[in-house]
Amino acid sequence: MDSTTPEALAGMRETASPATLPADTLKADILWHVLYSLGRDNERPDRQTVFRALALALRDRLVEKWIASQRAIYAKSSKRVYYLSLEFLPGPFLRQNLIALGLEKEARDALTELGFTLDDVAGEEWEPGLGNGGLGRLASCYLDSMAALRLPAYGYGIRYAFGIFHQLIRDGQQVERADNWLRGGQHWEFERTHYMHPVRFYGSVREWVDEQGRLRHTLEGGSTVMAMACDMFIPGYRNDYVLNMRLWAAKSSREFEFSFFNTGDYIGAVEKKIRDENISMVLYPNDEAPEGKELRLKQQFFLVSATMQDIVRRFRKKGVAWDQFPRKNVIHLNETHPAVAIPELMRLLVDEELLPWEEAWYICVRTFAYTNHTVLPEALEVWPEELFRKVLPRHLQIIYEINRRFLHDVRRQFPHDPGLLARVSLIHEGEQRFVRMSHLAIVGSFSVNGVSAHHSNIIKESIFNEFYKIFPERFNNKTNGITPRRWLRQCNPTLAWLITEHIGTEWLTDLEQLKKLEPYAESAGFQKAWMEVRLRNKQKLAEYIHAKNGITILPESLYDVHVKRFHEYKRQLLNILHVITLYNRIRRDPDAGIVPRTFIFGGKAAPGYYMAKHIIQLINAVGYTINTDPRVGDMLKVVFLQNYCVTLAERIMPATDLSEQISTAGMEASGTGNMKFALNGAITIGTHDGANIEMLEHVGDENLFLFGLLSHEVEDLRRQGYNPRTFYETDSELREVLDMISGGYFSPGDPHMFRDIVESLLNHGDRYMVLADFRSYAYRQQDAARAYLDQPGWARRSMLNTARMGFFSSDRSMGEYARDIWGVEGV
Ligand SMILES: *Cc1c(COP(=O)(O)O)cnc(C)c1O
Repeated sequence: MDSTTPEALAGMRETASPATLPADTLKADILWHVLYSLGRDNERPDRQTVFRALALALRDRLVEKWIASQRAIYAKSSKRVYYLSLEFLPGPFLRQNLIALGLEKEARDALTELGFTLDDVAGEEWEPGLGNGGLGRLASCYLDSMAALRLPAYGYGIRYAFGIFHQLIRDGQQVERADNWLRGGQHWEFERTHYMHPVRFYGSVREWVDEQGRLRHTLEGGSTVMAMACDMFIPGYRNDYVLNMRLWAAKSSREFEFSFFNTGDYIGAVEKKIRDENISMVLYPNDEAPEGKELRLKQQFFLVSATMQDIVRRFRKKGVAWDQFPRKNVIHLNETHPAVAIPELMRLLVDEELLPWEEAWYICVRTFAYTNHTVLPEALEVWPEELFRKVLPRHLQIIYEINRRFLHDVRRQFPHDPGLLARVSLIHEGEQRFVRMSHLAIVGSFSVNGVSAHHSNIIKESIFNEFYKIFPERFNNKTNGITPRRWLRQCNPTLAWLITEHIGTEWLTDLEQLKKLEPYAESAGFQKAWMEVRLRNKQKLAEYIHAKNGITILPESLYDVHVKRFHEYKRQLLNILHVITLYNRIRRDPDAGIVPRTFIFGGKAAPGYYMAKHIIQLINAVGYTINTDPRVGDMLKVVFLQNYCVTLAERIMPATDLSEQISTAGMEASGTGNMKFALNGAITIGTHDGANIEMLEHVGDENLFLFGLLSHEVEDLRRQGYNPRTFYETDSELREVLDMISGGYFSPGDPHMFRDIVESLLNHGDRYMVLADFRSYAYRQQDAARAYLDQPGWARRSMLNTARMGFFSSDRSMGEYARDIWGVEGV
């Protein structure tokens, strides 16, 4: 019988039990879904249709394993971990899921028979950009590792209809386009349309006394929005275990459907529906700078309220007493964004379950754990008190009561430091009052962690020093990590294969096994194979750049890559100043460049962040000048790749020689981009900041180019009065570069175009110490170029970077969280 007829397919479907799929059923399942799920002719499905059908065929397999995993968690009555994050940045799912399920080869074979390649079909996937950058990407690496470790865990977030904007570069400038990622339908998720929780905002609090004489609080009025669960599955690597990332989408409540009959205001009622559903409409595109908008606060509470209802529902099924809650649940707050979960749990326990305050608080501070991701003062989240009162009136009251009791205890513990109370208060007093979310998160959690050793020390010694004195036992470090399944196995299959050929496959779940590569670092044969793989990756990236930007680059040139969000503290500006320096040297003497180099930039700037966008424009202008200057030739190229995202990161990491991690010391909490590069054999040029410092300890200082001020030196310099002009005046190369920018060398049509960038350095204090670090950066760049001339030496360094990155697996991070914070084990 023809295997593509509907009858044949339906027959196969009935007889094929998913546990015992014969080898050809993936193809059959694809064709089945083309016809019955997507309603298309399955004789000649197009590529997009085949992608969607393949995704559905994999979802079938995932959901079975998920049900089994859930049953195992219930059966063991395990303590559950709830990971709450306003952002997840999972990247494309197709390859990850195929790898985790062990179906890559089957998929390739099935697609070949259908006339497609896996590369083509995978290219049809549009990644869900439900995060800004590092924080959201970390959450996704962590879910992958939680699944690999079989932890009884759940990710909770928001299903934004529009994720992070799509970035275009037009005339050298960033242009934002809406990211309509749901347009093509969602093939990975299950929408639970019958499964909703009400979430209530606004209204006013009525106080009353019940028959037993208890003071009660009831929220009256306000408006209700429904949260609909959308589930996406995260499979563990080849372990049949699947976790759930539950994302909430806002739906209008049914009320409006009835009310418009009464008022006759049909269109008004529909407008209310649209307003309600706005809550999950769009991700705020700000990284490291919160947007104090009402809608954002509503998003936070929307996630928290729906999630808490889910958690309580699951807990109630067990029928155990509330005091057991912390033994059965741990709620992890990824940054302070979901910290309103603390007053929300208090409200549930005190107002609804009628527990005494002390008992409720005892439960609360044994349930929550908080990860801090930033020490930038402008990134610490605060909310105007008035706004908070309007949106969440009862929660504000609860925060005040938490604060009253907390300050009472602090006064007793430190009676001789009256100023202390104002500094640690959950409320910032001043002309306007603000709720300090980080203080709330610290006071309400049993664990507070930073994300690298360096960052955790800064937390204890400076920004949260006073809390450290009050609650020393709460503070700990958990250095970030990345998942080797995506960031080596998937994005760099040829290198992964070379590694596996020599040391087996164990590294995929035990990254410290990469150490076994070290003995090969001196082998000429292995070095050659290593560098051949790398060169092929670089050729592929060159083809991509040629196709996207029309720029021809030499695959043999040194690929010097700076990709991450645009932020002044990440110092893309320092990098471009150095590029211009090289350009000037080459203009004068074509041999001065030492080695041909390709500088590659990528990253989005927050749409309202003027300086960051302006620096993007400068980089593009410099690139245009350099790439079209015949004196430069192949010695120097500058490329800006638009729309940096996970998909693009996967292309770039395997093809990078030199990884730029050059934040002002003390400002990058950890970084994870740094780890992705090094795992793929790039060598880092970086500052003493975040996880760079631990990377140095692991890979050794001959394998990493460190430069610049230390974080205490940055502080000392600032305290003594930093004068950036001295560097301008004493460093002639630097002066030439700055004069070219402000004189319009790169903007001949508008000579003033970039003057304000130079002003920010020379006349506005150079907050990020770009000029102070310029010279040491330029020297270190020269070291890097010389090192690149020695290709066997570079090969050895590259290999040792990969071999020594085992510590930076997110499996290690998650193992530490599970053991030290959560107190859970794999099921
Ligand atoms: C890893 C990653 C980041 C974080 O990069 P950093 O260099 O640590 O800031 C941001 N965006 C994407 C798409 C990533 O994959």
